[in-house]
Order: sequence, then C-alpha cells, then structure tokens
Amino acid sequence: MINQDPQYYVQGVLEQNKRIISKTITLIESSLPAHQELARIVVDSILPYTGNAVRLGITGVPGVGKSTFIESLGMMLARDKTHPLKKGTKIRKTYKVAVLAVDPSSTRSGGSIMADKTRMEKLSAHERAFIRPSPSGGTLGGVARKTRETMLICEAGGFDVIIIETVGVGQSETTVASMVDFFLVLMLAGAGDELQGIKKGVLELADALTINKADGDNIEKARQARKEYETALHFLTPSSPTWSPPVLTCSARETVGIDTIWETVLEHREKLLNTGELEDRRRKQALDWMWSLVEEGLKERFYKNPDVKEMLPTLTREVEKGQTAATIAASRLLFLHDNHHSEKALK
Ligand code: GDP
Repeated sequence: MINQDPQYYVQGVLEQNKRIISKTITLIESSLPAHQELARIVVDSILPYTGNAVRLGITGVPGVGKSTFIESLGMMLARDKTHPLKKGTKIRKTYKVAVLAVDPSSTRSGGSIMADKTRMEKLSAHERAFIRPSPSGGTLGGVARKTRETMLICEAGGFDVIIIETVGVGQSETTVASMVDFFLVLMLAGAGDELQGIKKGVLELADALTINKADGDNIEKARQARKEYETALHFLTPSSPTWSPPVLTCSARETVGIDTIWETVLEHREKLLNTGELEDRRRKQALDWMWSLVEEGLKERFYKNPDVKEMLPTLTREVEKGQTAATIAASRLLFLHDNHHSEKALK
C-alpha cells in the first residue's frame, strides 16, 4: 500500500530522506491515475524548492565510457578520498550528486543498453550520491516527463548536481539537452570516420566535447582528435554569444582531466549567469516543456477516445488499401475526437 498523504512525500523530500525521495520517484513513474494525481500535488508543492542545482547532461555512443566517467566525476564531486582533486583546483565544495538516465529503449525487451550491466558501483553506494535508472515509460515524451519531475524532486531533496545521462542514439539527446544547463558530449579518438558519423545536430547541442580514453597508447590519438573536433566546431555557430564550446580530453578510468571538465562547467555557469542567459535558457526550457506536455496530452487523449479507438482499425485498413484518402481519414478521426468531447461537455 502506498501512503496517500502528499505531505508525507513533500516533507520527506525536503528533509532529504533518500528512502522517501525514492518512493516519490516511484509515484511519479507509476501509470495509475491515482498515483499520477498524488505525484502532481507533490511536484507542485516542492516546486518552490527547486532550481538550485547544476543540471548536467551527458551523451555519447555505447562504450564511450559514460558510466565510468559519471562514476569518476560523481566520486570527485562527492569528495571521496579515492578521487582526490588536483593541486590548485578552484573546486571547493562537497556536492551531493544525483544521476538520472533517459533511455526509452529500456522498455523494449533486451533493448536497454544502459540497464543491463552493473553500473557505477562505487558511486551508487556513496552516501552523497543517488542513482536512478531510466524510467520504463514507453514513449520518449513519457520518459522525459518523468525524468524532468524526478530532477525537480532531487533538487528539492538537496542534491546540488543532477547528471542526466543518455545514449547517443536517436532523439533522446535533444530531449536531455532541453532539460539541462550544460550538455557534454563524450567522444572517442581514432574511431575511423566517426567525425562524419556523429550527427551534426548533436555537436550543435554541445556546450563542450570531451575525448575520453585519453590514456596509454591513446594519448596522442586523443590530442589529434581534439584538433579535428576543434576545427569541426569552428564551422558551427555557437548557440551562445558568450560561450564557444571547448574540446577537452580525459581519462575516465584514470580520473585524469575530470576536474578540468567540472571547472569548465562552473566557468560556463558563471558567464551565463552574469549575462542572464542561464535564466533565459531555463525559461525557454520551461515553455518547451509546457508545449511538449500539451502535445503529449493531446495525443494520449486522442488515442484513448472510444470513438477514435473504434474507427481507427477500419480507417487504417481503408487508407492502406487506397479506399479512403489519408486526408479524409485524418479529418474524420479528428472530427470524432472533437465531437466526443463537445458531446461530453453538453451532458
Ligand atoms: P558506456 O557504455 O558509455 O557507459 O561505457 P562504459 O563506462 O561502460 O565503458 C565502456 C568500456 O570502456 C569499459 O570497458 C570501460 O572500462 C572502458 N573505459 C571507460 N573509460 C575509459 C577510459 O578513460 N580509458 C580506457 N582505457 N577505458 C575506458
């Protein structure tokens, strides 16, 4: 049985109780209408306590080293003694780190790239860290909504760095970039024509690129790749007038260059806070979020509409066979949807 009292969750989150934070996220992820209603009240109530964390998005192809990187960065931010900072670093704080993931493929059987291995073992056991796998929510829109709300819960729950990870395939990078302050793209050196293979769109989203696995025999290759990517980025228009995305190198496995990346994140933050761009970015993200919720909601209502449900198979068949034009079928379906609602309103 779940607790029905929203105050139980709100209070637990604000008291930074990890167990209740977890329960609240489970509520957010539930598809039961009663749970969703309860979750909505909780999210609404904690909203004034959100917005203070550094929101960091990370993407990269499977195998690039995302888990290893996040574990290294997370342990360093949580100031674990196994991950010391370099001398003269500007990083002073001890952070509480939450790691979330957006991976819509995790709903497909055997499809998840991110869930089928033991990941971030040390970080997940750390008292100042919290790791939550991707919700299995069906559509990318559904997963994104849940992740966004989970991020807010973690912020209200006292986490001051939220890392949102996604696999660099498909549409999910754009979704993650649209909920973070800083978007980091992890790359590999010497992966053949990877430079051509990587979608230009993803490079355009990046606030920084990092060539990972710059260790051992790979150091020189990483340096070379860094130059190539610097040239490639040169041809793109940066999204901010104050920030040109740098290309860095690191070794997640040996924790080399990780602190420089975090300093870059902080430098970016300071610059964009001063110009007001960070606030603009978050405002725009909130609006985008509103619209994606509206679109998601409309779609859901359309497919749940009983009249639409009844006619959909017939019309689909007819359009396939060329017996009904796509335009006619579409307007009939929309008509059924609209009419169903206006009839309900009259009653
Ligand atoms: P993910 O699929 O992007 O999460 O990648 P993983 O973090 O699971 O790493 C994939 C493989 O690359 C693992 O065998 C890691 O040990 C290895 N790896 C990750 N980071 C580094 C690194 O900095 N240097 C080297 N040499 N190997 C790494």
